[in-house]
Amino acid sequence: MKTLTILGATGSVGSQALDLVARNPGRWQVEALTANSDAAGLAAAARASGAKFAAIADTAAWPALRDALAGSGIETGAGPEALCEAARRPGEIVLTAIVGAAGLPPTLAAVERGATLAIANKETLVCAGPVVNAAARKSGATLLPVDSEHNAVFQVFDHDRPERVAKIILTCSGGPFRNHSRAELANVSVADACKHPVWSMGAKISIDSATLMNKGLELIEAHQLFPVGIDKLDVIIHPQSVVHSMVEYVDGSVLAQLGSPDMRIPIAYAMAWPERIATPAARLDLAAVGKLEFYAPDLERFPCLRLAWDAMTAGGSAPCILNAANEVAVAAFIAGQVGFLDIDAIVAATLAKVPSGPVGSLDEVVAVDGAARRTATAQVMARAA
Ligand code: NDP
Repeated sequence: MKTLTILGATGSVGSQALDLVARNPGRWQVEALTANSDAAGLAAAARASGAKFAAIADTAAWPALRDALAGSGIETGAGPEALCEAARRPGEIVLTAIVGAAGLPPTLAAVERGATLAIANKETLVCAGPVVNAAARKSGATLLPVDSEHNAVFQVFDHDRPERVAKIILTCSGGPFRNHSRAELANVSVADACKHPVWSMGAKISIDSATLMNKGLELIEAHQLFPVGIDKLDVIIHPQSVVHSMVEYVDGSVLAQLGSPDMRIPIAYAMAWPERIATPAARLDLAAVGKLEFYAPDLERFPCLRLAWDAMTAGGSAPCILNAANEVAVAAFIAGQVGFLDIDAIVAATLAKVPSGPVGSLDEVVAVDGAARRTATAQVMARAA
């Protein structure tokens, strides 16, 4: 039995992980769970999974959490430091399923104590990949990707001979608007953007999938996870989301991982690694799928992917600025303050205004992230006015 901590236990990834825990009694003992403000959801998950500690980021939600867990023997905590405490407790595996850069401090806390991390929280690797990787090298922490694309690459990547890899090809469904013109994109609603054609996910990643920023963040994530150059990373649109990603080798062979689009497959792979366990995911029926399509992404209609590519190439703090601006812009879109096409405009303007440079520590990342958020917020206000 391994001990498991889930950061972001009340979300889409977190609840699917808890579903796997419930289906596999005796495999994982839950150490700690965290949430942002959903005290009722966190308390229910903590009771159901037998967690020892439940931490909530929003201190205003602590009384509700404490009351809901009264008499259960489950300890509670609140505030950002309580999330780091959850990460520091002795969970052998830490699933990072918080959305956004808010996941960085607890992720780093788990990395620094040498845990095995199942990483879903891609924004952490985007804004602070070099800091996280340096900490992992120092502590001996193991980083396992949960994102379906990177999990696919991980499964077919030659970890002993990375020089044999010619290309990593990330597949991308194209999102709900893959056939929309820019004019049509101007009027899409939040509900439209959250209707992903294949995956059922949290709101932020659904909107990132609609702008293709999600694929841009994933390019940067791949750059941080796999030891290959930027020139070896590529993206291809694949609407069926059956091929989860591919690795091309120097001899021209291409290895791919396929499966039905169910996040429990990569979550289970990362949480049980190096074992492979049964999941309730539907079996892949290629005859029923019929055809698999692939085509090149359109960077004119979806400039977020190009912005991310450019930020990855620029390196240093550029990916952090990109990520922070995107988080602010997506939150403003969800709040109805700006339109869909304002998202890429806000990100572009923020990247143009905030100077980028090297980042080597958590403090530096936090400072750049804050500066980018302030600039992006000013952009939102100018556009909302
Ligand atoms: P959700 O929005 O469904 O859940 C987010 C989780 O993080 C919730 O537990 C939420 O708590 C918590 N949270 C939100 N904001 C904060 C904060 N400021 N501080 C602490 N905790 C916070 O997200 P998803 O599960 O969709 O995504 C999680 C991560 O996994 C993202 O980085 C996403 O890109 C990545 N991912 C998701 C996939 C998916 O299928 N959903 C697929 C691949 C990657 P509360 O419920 O209280 O708000």
